[in-house]
Amino acid sequence: MATEALLYKNRALLLTQSFFIKDNKAELLLHAHKYDFDIAFFSEVSAFAQAVEASGDNNLFVIDLDALHNMQADMQSSRKTLLLSELLARLPGGHSYVYLQSARQGGRFLLQQRLVDSDCLAYAEKPIANDVLVDKLFNLFVQKKRGDVVRLMFLGDATHVDEAALQEQRVELIRYDDVNTLHLRVKELQPDMVMIGEAEYERTEAIVRVLKKNIEADPVREIMMLQRRIDVDLTRNALASGFDGIIPLISRELLTAQLVNRANKIRVSKDLIGKDRATGLLNKVGLQKKTQELICNAGREGRPLALGVVDIDKFKTINDTWGHYFGDIVIKRLSLTLSSHVGEHDLLSRFGGEEFVVVFWDCSLEEGARKLDAMRQAFGAIPFEVTPGTVRHFSFSGGVAAYPEYKTGNELFLRADAMLYEAKQAGRNQIRIAPAR
Ligand code: GH3
Ligand code: MG
Ligand code: MG
Repeated sequence: MATEALLYKNRALLLTQSFFIKDNKAELLLHAHKYDFDIAFFSEVSAFAQAVEASGDNNLFVIDLDALHNMQADMQSSRKTLLLSELLARLPGGHSYVYLQSARQGGRFLLQQRLVDSDCLAYAEKPIANDVLVDKLFNLFVQKKRGDVVRLMFLGDATHVDEAALQEQRVELIRYDDVNTLHLRVKELQPDMVMIGEAEYERTEAIVRVLKKNIEADPVREIMMLQRRIDVDLTRNALASGFDGIIPLISRELLTAQLVNRANKIRVSKDLIGKDRATGLLNKVGLQKKTQELICNAGREGRPLALGVVDIDKFKTINDTWGHYFGDIVIKRLSLTLSSHVGEHDLLSRFGGEEFVVVFWDCSLEEGARKLDAMRQAFGAIPFEVTPGTVRHFSFSGGVAAYPEYKTGNELFLRADAMLYEAKQAGRNQIRIAPAR
């Protein structure tokens, strides 16, 4: 097997006294791996500080403050407790840290304030369950990374926002000024935020009500009104009509900053809803939404799509023979193999446990089958060291169906899944395509 360091997208460096976490270590790692990060454990400040200095952007630096106890202040001294100020002084600057405090430390507000004011990304109060800690650290990784584009549709005078500053923060501004077709445009473009100037309120309040009640409306989407002067009656009516919020126009800079904050929250929510944490790929929910969009675009541009379903062969045996943990690593490796074979306009999803779905943009049925087969060969070539010195290869089977022959995401999936079943019946480790109807 290739080096495990590459297996997980992110890494946390954790400074902790090993005897505090002896029993926790394996469990903490197991949880972390399900969230696509690895943990490197350190028990010495100097080694930790060195690793922080040498590490890249995808890392979190976590310090268990109980490590202060029984940590030698320096080689010469026999004092067994490091002072907080000594620890802080020894941490490399220009980085931010996550602190784990004991309940006793957490009760001291001055200490918390001191930490917060010194390169603190976040702090957690112990006791904290391993899975909860991992979940929170994962959220910090999500916040740090360069996320997906968030779309803002603006009805009214868009010079009130700083488009370049929005773009910098990966917020795409879509100007729109036809009130009468707003609901159609929203349906088509699926913006994450809709901003409506107060001048348009009279003409849009019915539209907002209509948008909100659509059963397919994105629950994460925010519809906001921009208000120049505080008008209590208008605010009350707008909230009653379904506007999520009223944003006062104080200045261009402040409006832009508020929109960026909201966009960041929306981005986190969308990731939590639509992505698989273990692999960072789309989950079933995310895939359905994106497939729908892709089919729309394909219809408009007259392009074909190929949808492939992939399922690892005899995976139960893999789990039963080498353990569930090893099975997880096989899934992870497959996700990395598939990821390296898809283009930027394609979709890739971990649909279920060991099942993946890929949608190739602008791709015929035959071409899709060829691409899936290249993935099959690449995965089959990976040597897995199942026990020291023993190498095994694994395989998957796949089925493909294509748009426009099959029209909806559901039809495409069912057809490709039926083809997957045929591939399994025919002996596995192969790709089947739907014959022309
Ligand atoms: P087939 O070739 O017919 O696909 O045989 P199979 O044994 O792979 O059968 P199936 O696809 O039905 O088995 C899926 C198994 O995958 C069942 C479940 O225990 C296991 N599984 C599902 N999700 C996970 C996961 O996240 N991790 C691990 N280790 N196992 C999982
Ligand atoms: Mg399966
Ligand atoms: Mg299987």
